[in-house]
Amino acid sequence: MTAEEFRTQVRDWLASAPKPEELYDYGGTPQLTDVPAGRQWHRTLYEAGYACLHWPAEHGGRDASVAEQAIFAEEAARAGVPRQLNIVGPDLAGPVIMRHGTEAQRRRYLPPILRGDHLWCQLFSEPDAGSDLASLRTRARADVDDWIIDGQKVWTSAAGSADYGLLIARTGEDRYLGITAFVVDMTLPGIAVRPLRQLDGESKFSEVFFDKVRLAGDSVLGEVGQGWRVTTATLGQERLSLGAQAVGMFEALREVATAAREHGLLDPVLEDTITALWSRIWLLRATWLRAVGADTELSSSAFSVLKLVSSEVYRDLGDLATSALGTDALAAGHPLVHRMLVGRAQTILGGTSEIQRNILAERVLGLPR
Ligand SMILES: Cc1cc2nc3c(=O)[nH]c(=O)nc-3n(C[C@H](O)[C@H](O)[C@H](O)COP(=O)(O)OP(=O)(O)OC[C@H]3O[C@@H](n4cnc5c(N)ncnc54)[C@H](O)[C@@H]3O)c2cc1C
Repeated sequence: MTAEEFRTQVRDWLASAPKPEELYDYGGTPQLTDVPAGRQWHRTLYEAGYACLHWPAEHGGRDASVAEQAIFAEEAARAGVPRQLNIVGPDLAGPVIMRHGTEAQRRRYLPPILRGDHLWCQLFSEPDAGSDLASLRTRARADVDDWIIDGQKVWTSAAGSADYGLLIARTGEDRYLGITAFVVDMTLPGIAVRPLRQLDGESKFSEVFFDKVRLAGDSVLGEVGQGWRVTTATLGQERLSLGAQAVGMFEALREVATAAREHGLLDPVLEDTITALWSRIWLLRATWLRAVGADTELSSSAFSVLKLVSSEVYRDLGDLATSALGTDALAAGHPLVHRMLVGRAQTILGGTSEIQRNILAERVLGLPR
């Protein structure tokens, strides 16, 4: 099947697939209230063979190429639906378990992720370990066959609704070799999840506290001390959706122009700004299509350019809300105002813009550190 045939097939299916009434494109992370519709939608995707497209066929996936995954992400965005329940289970935990898990772990954890029965969260960032993740301090202490976890994570997306978490914790003093990856059942005693409310009013992430949480020995993922290798190897899957965001950005740009016209604020300066953004969105989409068309590895630096450009266009688009709405931007609830408030998050999550610039400077341009 050619890429265009695949696109047509996906578009037709998405148009006619039964969708829960409450479903909308909530992005990579559902809020607590989005989870029931998200689970139901993921089950529909699974039954039609569109869940976990990138997984190998032996684990129920479709062995989809990067290009096919990208097409699916774009068509899902066009249809206004999420491409899966959330990012962490299918894109991060699943591939990590396939590559580093035991046979028993694969049998236990993969099928419920594929069906959308289990929602996973990523327990990496800490109050003093974000960009510099290797300085994490959450500790895992061996206790006979078990492990005892103490510490704190933060910015954990979907922690409040997650069934399982992929945790990295310190098992030794070495900066990298002292890190081990674990699977955590989020209902275990000693885990406290405290939701954080964002300035847009939503609550998509939480602080997670571990107080003497006892994990069974078979919770270790990969080898003890190999946690850094285990987790960094599969980072970057969220980058698949980067270019797909262009679909929503064009739509938002139209909303900005309409709102500005309605408010009598569409002057030549704003017109110029809108046109410049329009070109940047086209460039983003074209670069993304070129990268995925060549089946470029998602870990490639090319995707750092895309991460940087897409999040900064997203932010600048949000900032136009005030130019388009005038003082009406002060009234809460307008979708453009919401876009403005969440705009910054994109330039932080999954590696900040400064970190992307460092990567490009050092690994692509060969500049000194
Ligand atoms: C919406 C959202 C969802 C998230 N979801 C999750 C999740 O599910 N799980 C999880 O573990 N984490 C999650 N995060 C956390 C995210 O990974 C971190 O916020 C990110 O890595 C940055 O870390 P930090 O917030 O500690 O900032 P810091 O690393 O403290 O950075 C602060 C500032 O310093 C700059 N800076 C830092 N180091 C350098 C450097 N070397 N050179 C130049 N500038 C630098 C940064 O760019 C930033 O501007 C999420 C974040 C957001 C915004």
